Amino acid sequence: MGAAVKLDASVESFVHAPVRKMLIDGRWVEAASGKTFETPNPATGEVLARVAAGDAEDIDRAVKAARRVFDDGAWVRMRPTERERILLRIAELIEAHGDELAQLETLDNGKPFTESRYVDIPSAAATFRYYAGWITKTYGETNPSDPDYFNFTLREPVGVCGQIIPWNFPLLMAAWKLGPALACGNTSVLKPAEQTPLTALRLGELLIEAGVPAGVVNIVPGFGETAGAALVRHPMVDKIAFTGSTEVGKEIHRATADTVKRVSLELGGKSPNIVFSDADPEAAVQGALLGVFFNAGQVCCAGTRLFVEQKMHDQFAEQLAKFAGGMQQGDPFDPSTRIGPLVSKEQLDRVTGYLAAGKKEGAKVITGGERNTGKGLEKGYFVKPTVFTGVRTDMKIAREEIFGPVVSMIPFKDENDAVLQGNNTTYGLAAGVWTRDVSKAHRVARALRAGTVWVNCYNVFDPAAPFGGYKESGYGRELGRYALDLYTQVKSVWMRI
Ligand code: NAP
Ligand code: MG
Repeated sequence: MGAAVKLDASVESFVHAPVRKMLIDGRWVEAASGKTFETPNPATGEVLARVAAGDAEDIDRAVKAARRVFDDGAWVRMRPTERERILLRIAELIEAHGDELAQLETLDNGKPFTESRYVDIPSAAATFRYYAGWITKTYGETNPSDPDYFNFTLREPVGVCGQIIPWNFPLLMAAWKLGPALACGNTSVLKPAEQTPLTALRLGELLIEAGVPAGVVNIVPGFGETAGAALVRHPMVDKIAFTGSTEVGKEIHRATADTVKRVSLELGGKSPNIVFSDADPEAAVQGALLGVFFNAGQVCCAGTRLFVEQKMHDQFAEQLAKFAGGMQQGDPFDPSTRIGPLVSKEQLDRVTGYLAAGKKEGAKVITGGERNTGKGLEKGYFVKPTVFTGVRTDMKIAREEIFGPVVSMIPFKDENDAVLQGNNTTYGLAAGVWTRDVSKAHRVARALRAGTVWVNCYNVFDPAAPFGGYKESGYGRELGRYALDLYTQVKSVWMRI
C-alpha cells in the first residue's frame, strides 16, 4: 500500500516524530499529563503516528492563552489590511504545501489521494482566501434614530471560540472554522477529531509561518469526552462551533447553556436525492453515485435516501448497481481508486451493523452489502459500495445516518409524494432534485425542508455559498457572508449630540 505515490520526506518525518505535539500559545508542547494516543492508517490498520492527548488541563492553558491575546487586542486591533495579508498568506502556504498536506490527509483519513489533492486541500486554501477578502469589507451601520443622538453599530468579534471538528474532511473543516473566526478578529482553540489530528497540526505550523500571533490559534488534539467536553464547559470560552454527530451536538447544546455561550451546530443528515422520470438519466445516475459514495459516504450531506419515480425505478436501480459495483476500491494512493476505506474500525463496525440491520428488516442488496476483504484490503476498513432496494421509510437504514457507502432506494408516485417522503425525516441538511422541468425544480426546491438544495447536481460547494441545517441537522450557516454572523456580535453605540 502507498506504492503509487512516493511520500514527501517532510511527511515521513512528520508522522515518525516520537510525539506530534499540540500548539498552545505559539509553542509546541506535550500534554501536561504526558499522555499520547495513536492515530492509525485506515487503509492498513497500522499505527501511523503518535499524538499528544490533550485533556482538561491543556484545554485550560490553551483557553487562557486565547483569552489573553483576545483581551490584549493584538489580533482584533491589527490593521485590517495586515490581517488580510496574513490570511492570504495562509492560503498561499496551504497551496504551496498541497502535496504534503494531501498525503498526510490520505494517510490519516483514508480518502483517495486524488480527492485530498484536488478537493480538500484547494478548498481549504480557497476558504482562507475568501474570508481574507471580508476583513476589509465588514461594516457597521448608522441608524436613523432621534436627531438629538447619533446611533451607530460596531461589528465586533465574539471572543474566544472553541471549535470542535470531525474526521471526514479534517483540514477543510479546520478551514471552515478558522477562516471566518480569524477574519472577524476572534481567537480560537481548535480540537481536531481523534481519528484525524495530523493535517490540523501541520496547519498550525503554517499559521505561525504566515504570521498569526502566538495564542491566536491553539490546537489541542485529544478525545471528545475529555478535551472536547472541557472546551465546551470552560467559562472563558465565548462561543462553541461544532461539526459532528447530532447526538454530541445535543449534548454540547445542553452543556453550553450554563455559561450562555454562543453555539453553532452543523450536525448529521439523511438527505433525500429525488430523481423524476423526466431527468437526464445518465446525469442522474452519476449524480446519485457522487451524492452517496463520495468520501466513502462519510459526508454529512450525503444523498442516502434515493427517491426514484416509480416508472423508472427498476431501470435506474440496475444502472446504479452496475456503476456502483464497478467503482474501484483499494489503495487510496492508487490514482484509479474511487473509494477508500472508512476512517476507523469503529466506523467499519457501525456501517456493517447497518448492512446487517437492512438485510434483517427485509431490504434487498443489489450490489455490495459487505466488507471488502479483497487482496491487499484485508487489514483495512473497506466496505463495498452498497445499494439497497425495497426499502421502507420505517426501516433503520432509511431513518438513521449510516455514514458509509450505503444508499437506500425508495420509489415514489408523483411530485407530492416525493416531497412528503423527502421531508419525512428529523434531519434537514441537504437535498437533491433531478428534473428537466424548471417549474417543478423550483417548486420542489422550495418545498424541501433542507439548508441546501442541489438541482441537477450534488455535493457542489463554494466558500461564497452558505451551508447548514434545518431541523435536527443544526443551526447557523457556515461559509458565505452568513458565517460572519456566527463570528461577530453587534454593538449599538449612542452619542448625545
Ligand atoms: P462525534 O463524536 O460527533 O465527533 C465529532 C467531534 O466532536 C470530534 O472532534 C469528537 O472528538 C468531538 N466530541 C465527541 N464527544 C464530545 C463531547 N462530549 N464534547 C465535546 N466534543 C466531543 O462523531 P464521531 O463519533 O466521530 O462519529 C459518529 C457519527 O457522527 C458518524 O457515524 C456520523 O453519523 C456522525 N458524523 C457527522 C459528521 C458531520 O459532518 N456532520 C462528521 C463526523 C461524524 P473525538 O474525535 O475524540 O470523538
Ligand atoms: Mg467520537
